[in-house]
Amino acid sequence: MKILVTGGTGYIGSHTVVRLIENGFDSVIVDNLSNSKEDVVDKIRQITNVRPAFYKADLLDKESLSEIVKKEKPEAVIHFAGLKAVGESVALPLKYYHNNITGTLHLLEVMQENGIKDIVFSSSATVYGKPESVPIKEDFPLSATNPYGATKLMIEDILRDLYKADPTMNIAILRYFNPVGAHKSGLIGENPNGIPNNLVPYMMQVAAGKLEYLRVFGDDYNTKDGTGVRDYIHVEDLAGGHISALKKLAQRPGIVTYNLGTGIGYSVLDMVKEFSGVLGRELPYKICGRRPGDIDECYADTSLAKKEIGFAAEKNLKDMFVDGWNFQKTAER
Ligand code: NAD
Ligand code: UDP
Repeated sequence: MKILVTGGTGYIGSHTVVRLIENGFDSVIVDNLSNSKEDVVDKIRQITNVRPAFYKADLLDKESLSEIVKKEKPEAVIHFAGLKAVGESVALPLKYYHNNITGTLHLLEVMQENGIKDIVFSSSATVYGKPESVPIKEDFPLSATNPYGATKLMIEDILRDLYKADPTMNIAILRYFNPVGAHKSGLIGENPNGIPNNLVPYMMQVAAGKLEYLRVFGDDYNTKDGTGVRDYIHVEDLAGGHISALKKLAQRPGIVTYNLGTGIGYSVLDMVKEFSGVLGRELPYKICGRRPGDIDECYADTSLAKKEIGFAAEKNLKDMFVDGWNFQKTAER
C-alpha cells in the first residue's frame, strides 16, 4: 500500500517513513524543505535499505501536488507538513494561517479529486488549551491560545466537517503530546535552526556546550516541585502510532481521534535529573521567570488509543535522552 507523507523529511515524518518501510508500506514524501533537509531521504535509505520517493514541492502549489498524486497514486495520506513554532506564529499569524490552512485545503481537494479517502492528521495537545484537569481525555473542551494552535483546531474542524459531508472518508486525528528523542541509529532526529524553543533541544545544546545553562521557566506552578509538567513521548513510539492509526483506517472506522502520549507527566526538574544521569555530570540550570502562555500540567489519558488501536509507548525517559544525545553528538561530527 502506498502512502503519501507530507512533511516526510521533517522530524516526526522521517521517523514515520522509517516505520512505514519497516512495516511493508511504500511511501512518497512531499516536502518543501522549509524546515528540513533533503539528505534525510538518504539517511532513511541508510536505516532501511529503501530509498523512499521524494518530491520537493509545496502544498501551497496545488498544481504540483496534483501532478504528484496523479503520477504516484497513493491510497492514503499522512499529513505532517506545517509550520510549528508557537512564538513565530504569534509574530507572523498570516504566514501560519496561509501555510497550514491553505496547504491542508489544497491537500484535501487533491485527495477528493483523486478519490483518496484515508488521512492521518498531526494534531497536537495544544488544542486542549488550558485543561481543567489531568490526565487529558479526547473529549475535553478544545480551544486555541495562539495562531499555531488555532491552525490545528481549524484543521480538525475542517476534517470533522468533511467527514459529515462524506462519511465514506476515514480520518485519524492524532493529538501528539511532547515528542522528543531520535532514531537509535543517530542518523535522524530533531535539529532546530538557531536557539531552540523547546525544552529537550535546548537541554541538548547546553550539554553540547553551545548554550551556557538551561533556563527553567518558573518554579511556582501548581505541580509537585513547582516546575512545569509535560508528557514526553519518544519519537519512535510516536512514529509507531501512525502505523497503528493506518491499520485502524483500513477497518473503515469513519473519523477517530486519539491522544498519543505516554500518560506520564515529568517536571522540568525531573528532566534535568534524568539527563544529568545519562550525561554523568550535572546539567547546569537556573530558575527564571515563567514563560508567558505556559500551563502547569499537561499529560494524556492514553486509554482510548490503547483500547482502540493497541497503542502504548514502550520507551522511557532514559531512552529518550540516550537516543537524543546520541543524535546530537552524531550531528556535530
Ligand atoms: P518539522 O518542521 O520537523 O516537519 C514538518 C515538515 O513539513 C518540514 O520538513 C517542512 O519542511 C514541511 N513543510 C512545512 N510547510 C510545508 C508546505 N507548505 N509544503 C510542503 N512541506 C511543508 O515538524 P515536526 O516536529 O516533524 O512536526 C510534524 C507535524 O506534527 C506538524 O504538523 C506539527 O505541527 C505537528 N506536531 C508537532 C509537535 C512537536 O512538538 N514536534 C507536537 C504536536 C504536533
Ligand atoms: N521549558 C523550560 N525552559 C526552556 C524550554 C521549556 O523550562 O528553555 C519548560 C516549559 O516552561 C514547559 C516545559 O519545559 O513547562 C516544556 O516546554 P516545551 O516548549 O518543550 O513544550 P510545550 O510547552 O509546548 O509543552
